[in-house]
Amino acid sequence: MSKPDYYDVLGVSKDASEDEIKKAYRKKAMKFHPDRNSDDPEAERKFKEASEAYEVLGDEQKRQRYDQFGHRGVNGGGGFGGGAAGFEDIGFDDIFSRFSDIFGGDFAGGRSRSRGRRSSGQPGSDMKLRIELSLEEIAFGTEKKLKVKKQIKCDECNGTGAESEEDFEMCGTCNGTGEVRQVRKTMLGQMVNVQPCPECRGEGRIIRNKCSKCSGEGRYRGEETVKVNVPSGVSEGNYITLRGKGNAGKRGGDAGSLVVLIEEKEHEHFERDGNDIYYDLVLSMPDAILGTEVEVPTLKGKAKIKIEEGTQPGRLLRMKDKGIHGLNRSGIGDQFVRVNVYMPKDLSDEEREHVEALRGNEHFSATNKEDDGKGFFSKIKDVFT
Ligand SMILES: [Zn+2]
Ligand SMILES: [Zn+2]
Repeated sequence: MSKPDYYDVLGVSKDASEDEIKKAYRKKAMKFHPDRNSDDPEAERKFKEASEAYEVLGDEQKRQRYDQFGHRGVNGGGGFGGGAAGFEDIGFDDIFSRFSDIFGGDFAGGRSRSRGRRSSGQPGSDMKLRIELSLEEIAFGTEKKLKVKKQIKCDECNGTGAESEEDFEMCGTCNGTGEVRQVRKTMLGQMVNVQPCPECRGEGRIIRNKCSKCSGEGRYRGEETVKVNVPSGVSEGNYITLRGKGNAGKRGGDAGSLVVLIEEKEHEHFERDGNDIYYDLVLSMPDAILGTEVEVPTLKGKAKIKIEEGTQPGRLLRMKDKGIHGLNRSGIGDQFVRVNVYMPKDLSDEEREHVEALRGNEHFSATNKEDDGKGFFSKIKDVFT
């Protein structure tokens, strides 16, 4: 493969000055920069070609050798190997570190910002939203549909902001680079001040005919329904990040994220402890003594549980697997029923007689504990529904 002449590649004459060569290279590099020409192998080839040419012509000694001996004078002497093919082995980052001086370092920075597929516009901002969930929703997971007021990508122009693809032209102020530079001489040497181009606002191109629906913004304010899948077992303060569901970018820029913050509603019956829930049950004295069947609420409606005779106040009854389904299948919690017993006051004379009779009974004595003395109140008993 014969290699093109380096002067032709940069489009300069054989007697071009150092400055002219530098400028010509910079123009080519900007034009064929891979970040501006995503998925265009031809542009990438031209970019590499220009970089190779500048590597030689930008160096006084190499340029001299090239003038004298042509490509043979500069190839194989270290530096760049066998021309275009050998050039493939050198990554773009190497090229940038090599040439960072003429780009003032900013070029590499701009590159990393837009690494990968470049989106031409400005990215949309992230949004934060709170949702309140009931314990029931948390227990089993839920899908929420949220109406979100935000910037929406314009469907008329597909986010470009232009009436049609032909309505773009390169910005003349910055020559499509999106930047303007000012060089100042200071005591410390030359200072390069780089700013986004005021004409195109850093986008490198301007629109001739703006889309009438979005006035050239590529987005408009509206309302969109966003679906959020909330897994079971989430807690207050957890958040779910939905990438690309935040504000749409300007003129095709990437959309921001929608961050959904979880809040837990207080429940009328239950207290939560991790994946377990607690319910306070109040029994009448006769029910606690004689035993009964009662109805208790659960996260999935009502359930009946058996109260054994002689159930002590303070006893915890466990309803296994009736709690919250843990996050990431970390297991299912239980529902605990805390037993309380209601003690009546202001008894009638007749009632008083009954209870007085019981007071004298040895079987009702508080010394007659069913327990060995420890853990009496917290003893857990499994119940079945
Ligand atoms: Zn539009
Ligand atoms: Zn511009």
